[in-house]
Amino acid sequence: MTATASTSVGRTAWQTLRLPSAAQGFVHAGGDVFESTDPATGEVVAELASSTPESVDAAVGAAVRAFETSDWGSNGELRAKVLYGFAGALRENQARLAELLTREQGKTIHEAEIEIASSAKMTEYYAGLARAVYGRSALLGPEVTGVVLREPVGVVAVITPWNWPLVLLVRSLAPALAAGNATVVKPASITPAITVETLALLAAQPGLPEGILTCILGSGSVVGDALVGHDGVDMIAFTGETGTGIGVMKRAAEGLRKVALELGGKAPNVVFADAKLDKALAGAENAIFTTCGQICTAGSRLLVEDAIYDEFVERLAAQTNGLRVGDGLDPASQLGPVASAAQQEKVLSYVERGKAEGTLVAGGAALEGEPYDAGHFVSPAVFADLPAESSLIRDEIFGPVLTVQRFGDEAEAVALANDSEYGLAAGLWTQSLDRAWRVGRAIRAGTIWINTYHHFYDEAEVGGFKRSGIGRQQGIEGIHEFTETKHLNFDGKETLW
Ligand code: NDP
Repeated sequence: MTATASTSVGRTAWQTLRLPSAAQGFVHAGGDVFESTDPATGEVVAELASSTPESVDAAVGAAVRAFETSDWGSNGELRAKVLYGFAGALRENQARLAELLTREQGKTIHEAEIEIASSAKMTEYYAGLARAVYGRSALLGPEVTGVVLREPVGVVAVITPWNWPLVLLVRSLAPALAAGNATVVKPASITPAITVETLALLAAQPGLPEGILTCILGSGSVVGDALVGHDGVDMIAFTGETGTGIGVMKRAAEGLRKVALELGGKAPNVVFADAKLDKALAGAENAIFTTCGQICTAGSRLLVEDAIYDEFVERLAAQTNGLRVGDGLDPASQLGPVASAAQQEKVLSYVERGKAEGTLVAGGAALEGEPYDAGHFVSPAVFADLPAESSLIRDEIFGPVLTVQRFGDEAEAVALANDSEYGLAAGLWTQSLDRAWRVGRAIRAGTIWINTYHHFYDEAEVGGFKRSGIGRQQGIEGIHEFTETKHLNFDGKETLW
């Protein structure tokens, strides 16, 4: 079974970017050159200079100096102006950035446009909050007053993954800057060019003190590790795999640096027999196949109630086989390639295991022929009848692979939903308000979508229970993560006690 092919239209010639250019003074690099490539064609998108231990030191040193000597931390009006300017520049450059994002990451151009627009909107949200970083006060006795301040943490390292490289960058960077911190960004090695080109728009904003934004490039295990272990860094905001996050936390602990960790997921998506089935089917597809399954909140474990199971799986398989997989720059493509050869290999190895353990009801093949041969394309896969202990049900595959499990009643649905080491997100589909409350409360995850999936709001916090992370991003808590709380205590009494 293969998905419907989407032909390559909308692709024009590409001139390899050579980064950083002289204009990108915020990037501290000068080491070996590495390439980022287009996962649809294998074409070189950009050549970039890696950072070295010396350049990591220079980037952090610049950030420390800027934090200590500029008025950034105390000037909310300036911070708001810079962030609003950046959001405007993102909108003005949307078409150019979206094309680069699709070429470097592989996602569909439609999704790339959404990603740029969402990044602009989230930046505006935190630009507004930059002037409202409030603490509180308390009358602690007849002559005693406490003023509780929220102050910036200092130098924040922002380490990002490649799947939503701009939204996940802005989700940490914008609140960190809005709260008055200096920042050092380390993007994923798969998506450095789109990150540098986006950050250049921020670096160009009038009034941004030199050193408040710096960037380093190159391998996580070398320059990322040097950054996390650097004495000048006060906090690490890390988004990536749970295993990497645990390593980052251990390394940060050596210097007792603060961490915010947004990690992996294996979200259950629960369909009850009383759900609106057409909507639940569309939701199941959106939940797993957005960004080709390479999204931390992917609804990769579909749980379906007995009474509708057979019909639901049959319709889902037909729908999945009809999805159009192709070059992300072709507006007709519904799924692009996976982001790298390593991702493709990983996905296909899980598919092989799944075939031995259960029933493959759709997709699950490396796509061949035009326009697939030069890229990393996989047809979206759906598996049924897998044992509960199958690695396909337990591991975060981070690709277009959906498993379907059957449940008999609400208690079993909740037990299956919670039977995971992760707790990032979940979906549930029902027309019963009582059940939605009960099940929504019972599932242990940071976001529960009811009769919808993958809707994010700048105002609403996201984050993980269990091994999906520590801390919250977005919303008010998202900016509080990047502050220290300080109590100023005023005592007007004549005596000490
Ligand atoms: P990785 O954990 O492999 O990498 C994330 C970032 O960490 C990259 O910039 C990487 O650099 C860097 N890195 C790797 N090793 C180290 C190290 N020792 N010290 C410091 N930095 C390091 O994740 P992926 O990029 O593969 O992203 C996919 C993962 O991210 C999935 O598990 C997904 O669930 C998770 N994720 C979580 C989200 C959430 O909100 N909870 C959102 C999106 C993704 P390099 O690229 O050079 O290796």
